[in-house]
Amino acid sequence: MTLKRTACVKLAIPDDRRDDLKRTMLTFRRVAQRFADRGWERDEDGYVITSRTRLQSLVYKQVREDTGLHSDLCIGAVNLATDSLRSAVERMKAGKNAGRPTFTAPTVEYNTNAISYFTNGDDQYCTLATYGGRIRAEFVYPPDEDCPQAQYLNSDVWEPKGATLHYDRDDGEYYLHVTVERDEPETELGEAENGTVLGVDLGVENIAVTSTGTFYSGGLFNHRRDEYERIRGSLQQIGTESAHRTIEQMGNRERRWNNDVLHRISKGLVQEAITHDCSTIAFEDLTDIRERMPGAKKFHGWAFRRLYEYVEYKAAEFGIRTKQVDPAYTSQRCSKCGTTLRENRTSQADFCCLKCGYEVHADYNAAKNVATKLLRSGQKSPVGGATNQLALKSGTLNGSGDFSPANAEA
Ligand SMILES: [Zn+2]
Repeated sequence: MTLKRTACVKLAIPDDRRDDLKRTMLTFRRVAQRFADRGWERDEDGYVITSRTRLQSLVYKQVREDTGLHSDLCIGAVNLATDSLRSAVERMKAGKNAGRPTFTAPTVEYNTNAISYFTNGDDQYCTLATYGGRIRAEFVYPPDEDCPQAQYLNSDVWEPKGATLHYDRDDGEYYLHVTVERDEPETELGEAENGTVLGVDLGVENIAVTSTGTFYSGGLFNHRRDEYERIRGSLQQIGTESAHRTIEQMGNRERRWNNDVLHRISKGLVQEAITHDCSTIAFEDLTDIRERMPGAKKFHGWAFRRLYEYVEYKAAEFGIRTKQVDPAYTSQRCSKCGTTLRENRTSQADFCCLKCGYEVHADYNAAKNVATKLLRSGQKSPVGGATNQLALKSGTLNGSGDFSPANAEA
């Protein structure tokens, strides 16, 4: 099985090449739009064009002539346009609203022909196809040795593939989101299914709650976030150049602070897993988590993904795996008797089972359900064995519901 991750790193773009890069980015967007527009106009058969090769055969040559954009970037633009057209068609098929895809984000898709990666001692850089010939851009890592980005990119096992270049309008810097891949032997997967699981529930009030009953409050996070938004709002109203500089500095400080807090939480979670001798840490699936979660903002989606990355990376050092499970009903199911009822969740914080009367904090209940989900899925695997269990505050529970108290508490 091939594992894929995304590593983000800031790039140092030489001053005399910034214009070339900017022009490349603007042209890339225009070209992607042209492909998408052509696809949206439909083919002779009356259908939106979702075939890469068809779209390429219709527009590619003309686009290359008009813009002189690097051929591999034109391919990247075709791919981006095709993906967007396909998801628009999927939406239409599902009876949802779908309009012509439009591209507004300042990004460029680089396939492996258009980007190369180099390591020279401590020096890491890439070269990017642009107008005016390739640009050499150094990687700029945050001053944090635990940074998972650095470790993915400076690794013997993870191989960098294509990348998406992003321009951050807030700080005026370029960031590269590199897809890294590694092969994972299948046997390793099977072994990890046998063992103790730490369940983690994510949330707004509590950023993370474990099946062992440890709570990481989101209060300070949310408070700082609101404060920051408030101050930024009033600085934006002032609108002077120095106000903008202040916003930028605050943004950097904010990012560092957030990262730092997430680091500490991730260390705590991994430590929790080690203490309870867990082989796996289970999270709910992070896809669309923000949409599922009442009160979650864009920030939370970012924070959960970042937290997961940190945990995944740190846990791997101790041979502990990190997995995501289907989140369905984890908040409505009673972790004690298994009854699933919407009414069990009496408020954001309270869970009370209508069947067995089990009363418990809703997030703690959910964390246990997340672990149980992974156990149940594990038991279906052919590697099997009934040694799967989930880590609780005072012992372990296996998939069949048998409880063993922790030795330490005997
Ligand atoms: Zn119950």
